[in-house]
Amino acid sequence: MRNLFAILALAAASCAAADQPDLVLRGRLDGADHQTYRTVPIAVPPGTQRLTVAFSYDGKEQRSVIDLGLLGPDGAVVGWSGGNKSVFTVSAVDATPSYLPTPTRAGTWSLLLGVPNLRKTAHADYTARVWFGRTLDAVDEPPVLAPPLRSGPGWYRGDLHSHTGHSDGSCAADGGGPAVPCPLFLTAQAAARRGLDFIAITEHNTVAHASEIRALQPWFARTLLLPGRELTSFQGHANLFGTLAPVDFRVMAGRRGWSDLLRTVPPRALVSVNHPVRPSGEDCMGCGWADQEALRQAQAIEAVNGRDADTPYSGIPFWQAALDRGLRLTAIGGSDNHHADAADPQASVGAPTTVVYAPELSQPAIVDGIRAGHVFVDVAGTPDRLLALTAEANGHAAMMGDALAAPAGTPVRFALQVRAAAGMRPVILVDGVPGGWLADAPIGDGDRTLAFAWTADGKRHTVRAEVRDAQGKLALLGNPIYIRP
Ligand SMILES: [Zn+2]
Ligand SMILES: [Zn+2]
Repeated sequence: MRNLFAILALAAASCAAADQPDLVLRGRLDGADHQTYRTVPIAVPPGTQRLTVAFSYDGKEQRSVIDLGLLGPDGAVVGWSGGNKSVFTVSAVDATPSYLPTPTRAGTWSLLLGVPNLRKTAHADYTARVWFGRTLDAVDEPPVLAPPLRSGPGWYRGDLHSHTGHSDGSCAADGGGPAVPCPLFLTAQAAARRGLDFIAITEHNTVAHASEIRALQPWFARTLLLPGRELTSFQGHANLFGTLAPVDFRVMAGRRGWSDLLRTVPPRALVSVNHPVRPSGEDCMGCGWADQEALRQAQAIEAVNGRDADTPYSGIPFWQAALDRGLRLTAIGGSDNHHADAADPQASVGAPTTVVYAPELSQPAIVDGIRAGHVFVDVAGTPDRLLALTAEANGHAAMMGDALAAPAGTPVRFALQVRAAAGMRPVILVDGVPGGWLADAPIGDGDRTLAFAWTADGKRHTVRAEVRDAQGKLALLGNPIYIRP
């Protein structure tokens, strides 16, 4: 199993965005530049969606100082970070603090260098590395802008659905006052305090929070902040991850359906249909999902929303029905938290927790891990529960989310690894129906691996695992291994 995970990690790591800059500008300043401003032209090519700069210089031992800013093609100041930041980015949607979100239209932009101190006999050599991003997809952001928070493969735990004051999240004002639009910081802090590895902020129909995430991410050094959005229509909701590209969210009966909308989503983004069986009505406007055809354009389903597991509003039967129709959709969970100050741990950020196997803790790696289905949901949002189903047939290995070729008569060996679920029971489901395996195998303390075998019948099947507590309530929900003849 370890080998399998290592191979998966390599495959995902090779998808990382190129870290080579598109342009490198070098120059030297000397004593004559003391207390002056210099400009360094940057020819921004057509089609640029994002401008990212990494700036460095030497001579600091002689107390040389070069401050940094940016001028647009019209000469207007786009931003000034002085000596505070060596990396910044600007797009029409978002920008690093000190810079304004600005459309990066083609033309001659300029780095603005201010020289508050350069001794008469000193000089300072500078280097500006420049990236021209062609899209607003996370996968195209240079690693220097969004380095992984943690390297190395592992199970990363997070919440994929939350709202702050950028949409309809609210909390008591400081000092216990009336409810106000809630600062995003509090949601990020709630995630960090719970020990989550990542938290997606998924505002309704906006990515206005992207710049704030850029501002907060350095401070949240252990918790990855994902800028998502909840495409919210009168006929269904779906989360969109991995891109800041503008998307018109409007679904208009008879004029523009979900299929039309999802065709405008960048192909490397990830779409997850939210709370699909919540009844649409005055309590939850447009919450249910009716467009079965458009489901084919999604990659995931929010099978567990907040506390809806084991209720009539659970998304799991809806998800299973889609699997039974042959769709390959990753089950995920999301708290849909709207109140970062919620005291009840079962109503707060991180309940449920979605756990993703990824080669590193970065936005592209988490999004790819979800797309691949390398995911289970921890309904209570514990810090350590684990559910990992793997299978092997004809020398090929698969983990949750993978397809495994197994023609009729092929023996398939499964292994179910479960941790921190003492007293609970595993349920193995074939095409959504309990298969009877491990039925009398209560899970003991610690880390257990339970094995079972099956002989393939030459048909397509999904095999997935759940873990239920002594009362029969769902604790862990795993994604299927897709058996293919
Ligand atoms: Zn919703
Ligand atoms: Zn929501």
